Amino acid sequence: MKVDNCINIIRSLLYPRGCLLCGAKGDFPCHLCPACHNSLPFNHHACPCCALPLPAHVASQQLCGRCIKRQPPYTKTIAALTYEPPVNRLIGMFKFHQKLHLAEPLAGLLMERLGDQHERPEILVPVPLHPLRLRQRGFNQSVELTRILAKHYRLPYDWRLCRRIKATKTQSELSRQERRKNLVNAFQACAEVKDTHLVLVDDVITTGATVTELSKVLKKAGAKRIDVWAVARTQTL
Ligand SMILES: [Zn+2]
Ligand SMILES: [Zn+2]
Repeated sequence: MKVDNCINIIRSLLYPRGCLLCGAKGDFPCHLCPACHNSLPFNHHACPCCALPLPAHVASQQLCGRCIKRQPPYTKTIAALTYEPPVNRLIGMFKFHQKLHLAEPLAGLLMERLGDQHERPEILVPVPLHPLRLRQRGFNQSVELTRILAKHYRLPYDWRLCRRIKATKTQSELSRQERRKNLVNAFQACAEVKDTHLVLVDDVITTGATVTELSKVLKKAGAKRIDVWAVARTQTL
C-alpha cells in the first residue's frame, strides 16, 4: 500500500468525515456540504489591493478609499472570505483550540478562490509569530496554511526568511492607530530577497497593519513585489 493511502486511512479514522458545519455525512470538498459551502460569506466584491469588502454600489476592481489615499507596500491581496460567522468560528477553532485538521479545508477555500489564474509568485512566506507566542500556541497557523498551498501550487516556502522580534500585544484588543504603533520594528528580514516576487500568507487580515509592516521590511530587503493571500478579511478598515 502506498504511503499516501495509508496516511489517508489513518486520517479518516482520526478525524470525523462529513460537513464541518452541519455534520451531514459525506466526503465533501473542503469538508463542507454544498448547502453550507454556498452559504459562506465569500469576499468576491473587495478592494483588489487590501481585500477590504466593498459596498455593492462600488464598481468592481475599484480601490478602497484608504488604498487610494496611501498605496500599501504590497500589490494585491486575495482573501477568500469575510471574517464573520461561521468563518470566524472555524478559524478560531483552528487557531485557538489546536484543531489542526482545519488547516486543510481553510486552505482549500483559499485555493478555490485563487484558482490557477493568479500571477505565480516565486516564494510563499508565512507571517511569522513571535517565539513566545509560538511556544504558547504550539504552532504557527500561517505556516500550516502555507505548507498546504506550497504543495498544491508546487511553490517553495520559507518560514525563516523573516522573523518577529517584538512580542506585540494581541492586535484585536487595539485601535487602528495602536496597532500600527504596536508593530513598528516588530519584524526583521533574515535574508536578502532581491528581485523576488513574494506572497505573504496569513489566516486573517484585520486592518492590514501586520502585512503592511512586514512588507516594508521585505521591500527594504530587496523584494520586487509582494502580494498577500489570506483565508479571511475583516470588514474593518
Ligand atoms: Zn453542511
Ligand atoms: Zn484597499
